[in-house]
Amino acid sequence: MSQGVIDHLKDISLRKLKEKVAEIKSLSPQNNRFIITYSKNFTLSLSNYCQNFCGYCFYNYRIPKDAGAENVVLLSNEQIQEVIKKGISYNCKEALIMSGERPVKFKEVKEELEKRNCNDYIEFITDISNNLLKHNILPHTNIGILTFDELKRLKNYNASMGLMLESTSPKLFKKGGVHERSPGKIPAIRIEHIKNAGKLKIPFTTGLLIGIGESLDDRIKDLYLIKQIHDKYGHIQEVIIQNFVDKLGISYKPQAMIKTEEVLRVVGIAKIIFENNIAIQVPPNLISGYEKEFIEMGIDDFGGISPVTLDYINPENLWPHIDELKDICDSNGYSLKERLPIYDEFIEKNGYCPENIKKTIDNIHY
Ligand code: SF4
Repeated sequence: MSQGVIDHLKDISLRKLKEKVAEIKSLSPQNNRFIITYSKNFTLSLSNYCQNFCGYCFYNYRIPKDAGAENVVLLSNEQIQEVIKKGISYNCKEALIMSGERPVKFKEVKEELEKRNCNDYIEFITDISNNLLKHNILPHTNIGILTFDELKRLKNYNASMGLMLESTSPKLFKKGGVHERSPGKIPAIRIEHIKNAGKLKIPFTTGLLIGIGESLDDRIKDLYLIKQIHDKYGHIQEVIIQNFVDKLGISYKPQAMIKTEEVLRVVGIAKIIFENNIAIQVPPNLISGYEKEFIEMGIDDFGGISPVTLDYINPENLWPHIDELKDICDSNGYSLKERLPIYDEFIEKNGYCPENIKKTIDNIHY
């Protein structure tokens, strides 16, 4: 990626970006052109013990209790059943399985797993996933960095999986940078994870976390990096553009908060880079009040929206009501449509959707 291309993308006005994006959208298949998708889901947040300590994180067990954070060594079987039951009552189709990265590095978590006769954390997750599939709920797991073998073990129980690239900016690892104390955020490790998912044909979600100390150049380079990986493996179904939101108790204090205009710019540039080949997603609870602008900037998807559980990463930003989002889409000439955690094209794509996932999909009506 040449500096000339980056400079060109940086210089386009928001108005011109919107025009470009409209041109790209007009080339998408007729039946998708005016549709924004979302997935009705709930979250199983299994453990907030994490080997990293990112400066912007509110989820990590090390966040002071008085900031309102809650510590979970390992969600109990009863708590898991309770959330699943609620999810079923709301007709959710997806369970987002999340936790801190490598929680079993901590004695407390390891002991809890042993008490439950689990050989390892992956077995714990495959057991939960199996149970979810029996209830016709599709798991989507994102528990941080995994090895090739761990991804392989999880593939057969997941409709799709995810890992944010976040940012490969080296600045973030320097003294005072948000990834200074996060070995799992080393770009080469995350890139390898995303590539391994591609080798294993796992439908995949990745994305950028923006406003954490990276530059616009960094963001554009990372979008091209994701494109390069997708061009080679073809497994990335969506790219999330997620903006940093300030909170009590976190150590990262930016000199200036990322502005909506900057987020819109990254979304527009992402659309130009990915065209209609990868869906562009923004979390609707983080752009509340600006949905129209983001729709005009070419987003395709609002991601997982839960009537059951909070956004554990940004708990103060509540999920919108699906009906309200539907009205916003309608008034902007778009329809809001529910989708599964595996995009339609990956259900039929050779090798991407294991038989037991296909069976569950056949049982789901949406
Ligand atoms: S890896 Fe995720 S959970 Fe762990 S500290 Fe960083 S943001 Fe928090």
